Amino acid sequence: MAMTLEQLNAVPLEAATRLLAGVYEHSPWIAEKALAARPFTSLAHLKHAMTRVVAAAGREAQLTLIRAHPELAGKAMVGQALTTESANEQGKAGLTECSPDELATIQRLNAAYHEKFGFPFVLAVRGPRGTGLTRQEIIDTFERRLHGHPDFERAECLRNIHRIAELRLNDKFGAVPTLGNLVWDWHEELAQFSDPGYPEKGQLTVTYLTEAHRACAAQIKDRMLECGFDEVHIDAVGNVVGRYLSSDKEAKTLLTGSHYDTVRNGGKYDGRLGIFVPLACVHDLSRRGQRLPFTLEVVAFAEEEGQRYQATFLGSGALTGDFNARWLEQRDSDQISMREAMQQAGLRIEEIPSLKRHAQAYLGFVELHIEQGPVLNELDIPLGIVTSINGSVRYLAAVTGIACHAGTTPMDRRHDAATAAAELILYMEQRAARDGNSVATVGMLQVPNGSINVVPGRCEFSLDLRAPTDGQRDALDRDVRAELKAICERRGLHYTLEETLRVSAAPSAPEWQGRWEAAVAALGVPLHRMPSGAGHDAMKLHDIMPQAMLFVRGQNAGISHNPLESSTSDDMQLAVQAFSLLLGQLAGEF
Ligand SMILES: [Zn+2]
Repeated sequence: MAMTLEQLNAVPLEAATRLLAGVYEHSPWIAEKALAARPFTSLAHLKHAMTRVVAAAGREAQLTLIRAHPELAGKAMVGQALTTESANEQGKAGLTECSPDELATIQRLNAAYHEKFGFPFVLAVRGPRGTGLTRQEIIDTFERRLHGHPDFERAECLRNIHRIAELRLNDKFGAVPTLGNLVWDWHEELAQFSDPGYPEKGQLTVTYLTEAHRACAAQIKDRMLECGFDEVHIDAVGNVVGRYLSSDKEAKTLLTGSHYDTVRNGGKYDGRLGIFVPLACVHDLSRRGQRLPFTLEVVAFAEEEGQRYQATFLGSGALTGDFNARWLEQRDSDQISMREAMQQAGLRIEEIPSLKRHAQAYLGFVELHIEQGPVLNELDIPLGIVTSINGSVRYLAAVTGIACHAGTTPMDRRHDAATAAAELILYMEQRAARDGNSVATVGMLQVPNGSINVVPGRCEFSLDLRAPTDGQRDALDRDVRAELKAICERRGLHYTLEETLRVSAAPSAPEWQGRWEAAVAALGVPLHRMPSGAGHDAMKLHDIMPQAMLFVRGQNAGISHNPLESSTSDDMQLAVQAFSLLLGQLAGEF
């Protein structure tokens, strides 16, 4: 029989430690120390307490923990000397059925990894869905991680150990993340559609109004109907809109959603998680025959990434009355105008102005999104409270000096444009770091027509500055511009600076941020507040109604806009629970 938290909370320490035996491979000290945090309010609380013990144990204990793990498909597996848990996991991933070639490959990787890092390669082979990675996925991950930095690999092994522990705890407690699994599977099904040229390479690319994009819209629409939404339609810009009606016809509406388009060769979860999590909540509500005292409107935004046309946030912009009619004449790389693409998709361009939402009919906007960064993954925290979407400013800069002979011009007689840029980049690095949560990036940098034997006479580069408040961004902006001016004066150079974008910060509405916080706290998960470095649809809705976002941890160091983007069904389950709690809380306020 599965054990319960009540049982774990009630029994004496020794018995409780025994109950958690085998969760961390040959390391009962972790359970024993974590039990000091009893009573646990949730399984997520227990899981987190155990990660804290490992984090606090120090480097030597962590290395010992990693070394307590068997090699994948190693001698222990072949000789049947694994712990029951490890044998089960390696079996689920099909490692016991390796072909001689696969076995040889894994053995070679095991040896190379051990040689490089001094500890065994640890991978949670049951994977993000708990059902087992394929042997090819295991080998690919192994090969990729062999090139990691030793510090990163040590941390990544520990994170995999925590994931292994999570799945072992689920087994012990008979906990199945049913809705999380459902959401995970929906992502897989949606990911079958990809623009021409990409599926062959195993890549996911869904750009505005392509065949794959329209197939996604159709599938999301069907999914909404299956889940029990009352009204579902595709609107004039291609957004899929589902409404789960309140019993009270006069009631206001809570708006939520995110985007279903992707970047080129993107991940499966960027945007889509914020569509499917609320869908799972409605699926659950409608199965219980439960209505909310407000209408829930979920919008799957057609376009956020600006890949086919330069029309970023087109989907959410249409809801705020911010659709730019000039976009219609833009042409994609095949010379198809947006107008033609929309007509071909059967969208009614003349109806776009009517998509504008009227704020008085809405309670607010909430958006759930994968973090797209490493913070939550590093902290072993599944959910993050967004305090603000960073404001940003971008420039294209050009510094002009004097191009001259690299051999004959002494160092103290140069007017080198590139060294000025280099000096500015280093200044930006330390200036942004001083704020703690500002970021500053030079992403494009070139010496036009440069030569190996010529001192750079001109250097062109981009500046991207972001901070959680407009004031903080403006201070950063002022300092960076003042520094550029000072550097150029000192070095005898000219510069130009062209502002190409300025977006205000979108701080979360305190009452909505508070609702997310209460939901996360109720799950027994620690609160971690953080700004969003990336722009999101919530930023557009911010113009007309209060908004707040919740982040979900990404795996693989939180990588995004990359096929390695990943999230576990356990984290998705917590996201569904958090969203349901937010709905319940709001219902209680009526
Ligand atoms: Zn996104």
